Amino acid sequence: MGILGATGVVGQRFIQLLEDHPQFEVAELAASGRSQGKTYADACTWRLPGEMPERVKKIVVQSPAPPLDCDFVFSSLPGEIAGEAEESFARTGYPVITNSSPHRMDTDVPLLIPEVNPAHLELINAQRAGRGYERGYIVTNPNCSTIVIAMALAPLHQSFGVESCIATTMQAISGAGYPGVAALDITDNVLPYIAGEEEKIESETVKILGRLEGATIEGAAIKVSAQCNRVNVLDGHLAAIRVKLTRAASLDQVRATLASFTSVPQELNLHSAPDRPIIVRDEVDRPQPRLDRDAENGMSVTVGRIAPDNVFDYRFVALGHNTIRGAAGAAILNAELLMAMGKLI
Ligand code: NAP
Repeated sequence: MGILGATGVVGQRFIQLLEDHPQFEVAELAASGRSQGKTYADACTWRLPGEMPERVKKIVVQSPAPPLDCDFVFSSLPGEIAGEAEESFARTGYPVITNSSPHRMDTDVPLLIPEVNPAHLELINAQRAGRGYERGYIVTNPNCSTIVIAMALAPLHQSFGVESCIATTMQAISGAGYPGVAALDITDNVLPYIAGEEEKIESETVKILGRLEGATIEGAAIKVSAQCNRVNVLDGHLAAIRVKLTRAASLDQVRATLASFTSVPQELNLHSAPDRPIIVRDEVDRPQPRLDRDAENGMSVTVGRIAPDNVFDYRFVALGHNTIRGAAGAAILNAELLMAMGKLI
């Protein structure tokens, strides 16, 4: 398989998470003109704990354009160039599994969380038919905050219906890529603006929790209001969430519904699937980014502070690792599901 945007924050996570993967092997790496023609070891300043995996060091970095010598590609290209590059791979016959944003809201593109909406993969057929793709297609994963919020809402929506939701995020610095926001802006500070983020959470959540109707997704009838803040944390996006439910539920029911949530990836025992997609913590001061972001290899969302709310029905706090469950890990789990369904290679 190939990785587009392989030298970036998310690209490096892909390489780390795929090092000993039982099904996927990194064959091709692509990045900007700055990196092309160099070995990965020369092009990439490795910024994750531990060593750059030996077997990628000598791979020569290519341009993110077909053909590449691989069966499918993961993409973590910047939004400005991802849209066109991903289409050209899909058109040429490559499945594209991307965490970039340009195609997330396309009506014929699945916006997939394997635990939440695996049925949406049906859209691949409509996408191929409508765009004239033969073997290729595009499957996206959500924005790194949306995925945390949508995973926490999904079991509540399935069991009781979610009518409306207010989410206020506190998002890690790594969410902005490298070098991200300037140290002088984020040190001793909170930035109450992340371009495009509030809109993404509000629209993507409705699509993810929506229902497949024929060849399209009927968006969920949920009103979502989001406010996003960048905080001085390295990894791990935290969201304070309030929900109004359609049907009455007790506090115990809400807690049990979240804690017992499992789905298709757990049934299929997919390699990257966490045993518990949602971990509920009852300590009064959890979840915390530093303590909880790595739960189940960074693939679980941790929920805590569940309580009745004076204005809405319930409130709680949800946390997920933005470059693992929110990006590279999410795309890898998407690929594992596609593989299990016989849609990948
Ligand atoms: P990043 O650290 O800035 O990395 C960007 C990557 O894209 C690098 O490999 C870079 O290569 C390559 N690139 C930049 N300009 C290019 C060009 N003109 N042509 C070809 N390649 C180019 O960004 P990131 O945080 O990894 O994010 C990548 C994508 O994932 C973005 O779309 C972002 O929105 C999305 N995403 C990020 C997160 C997160 O938590 N960080 C979460 C979810 C989704 P060079 O090293 O050669 O410049």
